[in-house]
Amino acid sequence: MAEERSLSICFVASEIAPFAKTGGLADVAGALPIHLASQGHDVRMFMPLYSKIDSEKFALTPVEFLRDIQIRLGSQVFGFSVFVTKLPGSEVDVYMINCPSLYHRPGIYTGEWDEHLRFALLSRAAIECCQRMGWGPDIFHCNDWHTALVPIYLKTVYQWDRLFANSKSVLTIHNIAYQGLFPADVVPNLGLEEHRHLLFQQDLEAGAVGFLKTGILYADVVTTVSRTYAREIQTEAFGMGLEGVLQQRRRTVVGIVNGVDYEIWNPQTDTYISQTYGIDDVAEGKAANRRDLLSQLGLPNDEGGPLLGIVSRLTAQKGLELTFEPLTQALRYLNVRLVVLGTGESRYEDHFHWLQQTFPQKVCYYRGYNEALAHMIEAAADIFLMPSRFEPCGLNQMYSLRYGTVPIVRKTGGLADTVQLFDPASGEGTGFVFEHFDSTGFAWALKTALSTYRKPELWERLRRNGMQEDFSWQRQGAEYERLYARLASSG
Ligand code: ADP
Repeated sequence: MAEERSLSICFVASEIAPFAKTGGLADVAGALPIHLASQGHDVRMFMPLYSKIDSEKFALTPVEFLRDIQIRLGSQVFGFSVFVTKLPGSEVDVYMINCPSLYHRPGIYTGEWDEHLRFALLSRAAIECCQRMGWGPDIFHCNDWHTALVPIYLKTVYQWDRLFANSKSVLTIHNIAYQGLFPADVVPNLGLEEHRHLLFQQDLEAGAVGFLKTGILYADVVTTVSRTYAREIQTEAFGMGLEGVLQQRRRTVVGIVNGVDYEIWNPQTDTYISQTYGIDDVAEGKAANRRDLLSQLGLPNDEGGPLLGIVSRLTAQKGLELTFEPLTQALRYLNVRLVVLGTGESRYEDHFHWLQQTFPQKVCYYRGYNEALAHMIEAAADIFLMPSRFEPCGLNQMYSLRYGTVPIVRKTGGLADTVQLFDPASGEGTGFVFEHFDSTGFAWALKTALSTYRKPELWERLRRNGMQEDFSWQRQGAEYERLYARLASSG
């Protein structure tokens, strides 16, 4: 254990893998608590019971003393009951809030008129469940805007309860692009009317209230998922309007890079891939996986020439427009192949469709979400492309490193913290890193990667460097433990 004392941690999140996932938050929420529990801490988790969660598969059990609880949010009263299950592979209890009127919708997020209520209820329900358990956690760890009201609730609505007298709150920002901004007239419905003076007054005057901003103001510590992103979001270019409040709280803003769950993302044990491999048989392993992937996707397996891979949400954040021109040129003139997995904005989907039609022997675009295919691409590809406009942490570049798939990344956020530019002279470095957000930068990185690929000794060294990196939760989780311990002993 990083610190001696065992801590109690209430972890609240809108998505937790494998129950419900849209992105990296779910991966972190599904892994960090397992590490914390393995170090002897008492971790209990709270999330909504969305209708798409398979209650039989996950053996959800009703919690007798958490039935028919009512919470008033302004003029409305919501009733809920709680089910519990274990986070797979651990003894961590995950409590799911069953409030069908709010959570029985087709998706995790809805954008509907009552989105603020859905997540205000989650935050309140987590706190009220702790009360009924007689459990005053050392730490409430909340995540993103959805649960960012936990700190202000603790300091207002539940301030009377001595159970929480020593509780501290941590808010992790996984992506500042999502802020939970709502019209100011929802304030009474959050149960915060009598605490209005504590909200950000300028926003209220402008007719808005922001969940994330409120969390940043009242959390005891704000973390984000890489050191570089922690610095970036305090600037106008990346803060998306929250840079001011983050600067105001800069002493409490901390960056901790996400860990990787190497139980799931490990080429030596991965059950999704056709041939497992490790650092000593990476070339053979990747060749076998390449054959299998290309044949499954209906592409000819022309030996030689690197396979490029993309697995991504297709949104502006991921900056894939930088690849359009350079990739088209490379596919036209060079012996390269490309496999893309992702779904999102039509401008990206349309482009990758067009590339596939233009180069049917060289490109496969799979539109959709496919966990197995994501693993197969990591195992088969030689080079992974991640030219993000901004990237709070990013996981795929770390998966790529472990799979011997050399990442090309832009120097931003977590990408800057986890991939080092390869220096052929010293043999140090793990990938190709470009600085400016333009296609010239990406074209340079691609060209450099392709010419390095043609030098087998250098490529071998580069690939080994990446495979030896360790971003396990054992390492990254210890940083959270130190942070919690410092907070818990701060009085
Ligand atoms: P973000 O959270 O911004 O989407 P990350 O790199 O932090 O980006 O995490 C993305 C996670 O989602 C990874 O586990 C990645 O493999 C997965 N992912 C993204 N798109 C797809 C897809 N189309 N199919 C399968 N997995 C995907």
